[in-house]
Amino acid sequence: MAQVTVKQLSEVVGATVERLLEQLKDAGIEVAGADSEITDEQKFKLLDHLRNSHGKTSAATAGKGKITLKRRSTASLKSSGSKAVNVEVRKKRSISKVSDSAPETDSKEKEKAEIQALMAEKEAREAVRAEAEVVAIEKSKEAAKQREEEAIAKKEAEVKARIEAEQQAKVVANAKARGAAKAEASKTTGSSSSSDDRNKNAQKPAAKGRGKGDTRYGRKELHVASGKKGRGKKTSRKVLAAQNAEAKHAFEKPVEKIVYDVDVPETIKVSDLALKMSMKAGEMIKTMMTMGVMATINQVIDQDTAILIVEELGHKAIASSADDRENSLLASAGDELHGELPRPPVVTIMGHVDHGKTSLLDHIREAKVAHGEAGGITQHIGAYHVETDKGVITFLDTPGHAAFTSMRARGAQATDIVILVVAADDGVMPQTIEAVQHAKAAGVPLIIAVNKIDLEAADPDRVKTELGSHDVIPEDWGGENIFVNVSAKTGEGIDDLLEAINLTAEVLEYTAPAKGPAQGIVVEATLDKGRGVTTTVLVQKGGLRKGDILLAGQEYGRVRAMFDENGKQIDEAGPSIPVVVLGLSGTPAAGDQVQVMTDEKTARELAENRHHKVRDVKFAAQQQAKLDSLFTNLGKGEVKFLNILLKADVQGSLEAIKDSLMKLAADNDEVDVAIVGSGVGGINDTDISLAAASNAVVFGFNVRADAAARKSVAERGVDMRYYSVIYDLIGDVKDALTGMLSAKFREEIIGLAEVKDIFRSPKFGLIAGSIVTEGTIKKSQPIRVLRDDVVIYEGELESLRRFKDMVDEVKSGTECGIGVKNYNDVKIGDQIEVFERVEMERVL
Ligand code: GDP
Ligand code: MG
Repeated sequence: MAQVTVKQLSEVVGATVERLLEQLKDAGIEVAGADSEITDEQKFKLLDHLRNSHGKTSAATAGKGKITLKRRSTASLKSSGSKAVNVEVRKKRSISKVSDSAPETDSKEKEKAEIQALMAEKEAREAVRAEAEVVAIEKSKEAAKQREEEAIAKKEAEVKARIEAEQQAKVVANAKARGAAKAEASKTTGSSSSSDDRNKNAQKPAAKGRGKGDTRYGRKELHVASGKKGRGKKTSRKVLAAQNAEAKHAFEKPVEKIVYDVDVPETIKVSDLALKMSMKAGEMIKTMMTMGVMATINQVIDQDTAILIVEELGHKAIASSADDRENSLLASAGDELHGELPRPPVVTIMGHVDHGKTSLLDHIREAKVAHGEAGGITQHIGAYHVETDKGVITFLDTPGHAAFTSMRARGAQATDIVILVVAADDGVMPQTIEAVQHAKAAGVPLIIAVNKIDLEAADPDRVKTELGSHDVIPEDWGGENIFVNVSAKTGEGIDDLLEAINLTAEVLEYTAPAKGPAQGIVVEATLDKGRGVTTTVLVQKGGLRKGDILLAGQEYGRVRAMFDENGKQIDEAGPSIPVVVLGLSGTPAAGDQVQVMTDEKTARELAENRHHKVRDVKFAAQQQAKLDSLFTNLGKGEVKFLNILLKADVQGSLEAIKDSLMKLAADNDEVDVAIVGSGVGGINDTDISLAAASNAVVFGFNVRADAAARKSVAERGVDMRYYSVIYDLIGDVKDALTGMLSAKFREEIIGLAEVKDIFRSPKFGLIAGSIVTEGTIKKSQPIRVLRDDVVIYEGELESLRRFKDMVDEVKSGTECGIGVKNYNDVKIGDQIEVFERVEMERVL
């Protein structure tokens, strides 16, 4: 048969060429060099030599102690008569270390056996068969499986033989290796296995003639497929059968494959995608790696990537948008609505600022919302349902400043009837016209409340005339709009107004399905540290119940508790009823759609999808802002920018301010305004980091920075401002944008105290036992009460005491007793902030 070179032999036995040459020399075999061929005879001689010489040396010199030990143990197994289990792998190793392994065979008998085996092998010169034998031996522990294994081995050998015919050169080396292996095998497994081998050999030769062509490597691969299992994973022996079955499959793999239609959403988790293709995530990740996509099992990949992977794996990808799924889910929820019944009208009050919207609503519901409002402006939409003699009416109170345009627009969408409040003494103003436009766009009837009719300067006819030029024509002039003269102050005409509303509602016959999963709209949402997220929801269809699972914009959650506008717990709310719900995962935006879902998982899925979408947009915006600032920092180009990070007490204010800012920005060509971050709640360290990173100014609207954030502000030199009146904030930005920053009065916080205890004395009322944490508390200055970094009251000090003495000021680190004028709701943990108005140069 073919000869092998020293080099090839060295590869087979796993020794270096140099070592082999040395050993050959020791054995008295003449070879010219690494490339010279050696005959079988020579190999034998070498083997004999090595055996003998090693026999003299100690086992330790053999180098690989571990293997040596194992081999010995297998030998003892053999002597006990049982079939050696661990033989196979080591055999292979030992082969590759002829020089090392030989010494371990301390018994002459063994050597003989080996030699005989080797001889037999040579005669047969059936490398493949040898291999099959080895495989068989390996499997011999599982006697029951043995036959099967052989079959597999044969098959594998055949296939390999065909594929790797080019490696014939190494046949002999292989044969030798196998021979050695066999020798050892027979050593350990005894003669019975040897005879098995022979039987196998007898079966194989004809078929395996070509099998000889296998390289050692070819065979090695084969063994990797089958032998590895036995060796590498001893612990998993028990599943060997299964693995074999698998290996078989792997080998014959090009069988027909199931092609799945894989529905690929916009984003999908790696593990979920694998599941859809009924494959192991690990396998899929491997495929992804070959495609250059690195991802972990829990990572979320985008649709494009997912489609590529699906197609790479031979399946059919069907892109599905989350919107499709969402729409179908929402549609099916909608299908469950039933029980159409009349419902109360939802009325939105609109109009120019200070024309009396809040006063009017207050009068109607006999509450006093306007009283506590900062700057006298309604800062967010409130919703109330009012029971009049003529029926229930639901009011949405929208604020009047232009800043609230977008919310008002949303209000109009949730609205059946718009009440346009126009002050009779002021007439039609810009926001009056806007309100008309919104009402018309929403296609809802418009009722005009001509307010402040009690005033002497009131001129209701002027209002009619002015509105007439905007296509709002009074009924008595032949038009279709009802005009009612009212006074929120005296209450005059209010009954007429309510009657006009009820009349309109009667005519238009508002109905809604009262049963089934509720749908509605978010009126406002705030984050309350004690109660979590509180969301005002206007139910529009179906019945909202405590315990329902809500999807609201990007948020979801189970309704933990539900209250009416008076804070009374309720269990169910039907169409047109506003409720405050607790339990959402975060604060949804005013105007977000609300839907009751059947299960939390789906709700979460949809909420997350929406989150992803928004985050992408936000991220893009942030990148943009950073790019812009980079641009400016480089000093190139004329573009200037103003980056803003905005935090506010409630979602409504936040939206309103954002919208006004964007409007300002749109009106201004020279300066780019970008809102790099915004949210509801106090300003924290993360906010400051973001602001610092994007060179942003931080605006706190009725919120304050916590201690860590304040420290950060100082360290990073971030510009941070507090406001409690939207006008001031917008005005400042406007001035900054138009380069008109002039000296102006501004507030400066001069002291901060934390409330440690509350005392009630009959003489002084409620006293907040406090410690001054920053600056100085001065008696003569205005103050604010903060809870969770959010402003909850603005007013003044009634008293300031050190022990029993009245004092004018208290310095940092000192305890004092603070009495707040007209306010008795101070709680332990609140902060009292003292500020003063100072004139200062403003630079934004
Ligand atoms: P809004 O900004 O439209 O909500 O207006 P407000 O309800 O806050 O009212 C603005 C101011 O007008 C407040 O000072 C009210 O007291 C006053 N006001 C509202 N309605 C009337 C009214 O019918 N008669 C008079 N005399 N004053 C009114
Ligand atoms: Mg108001």
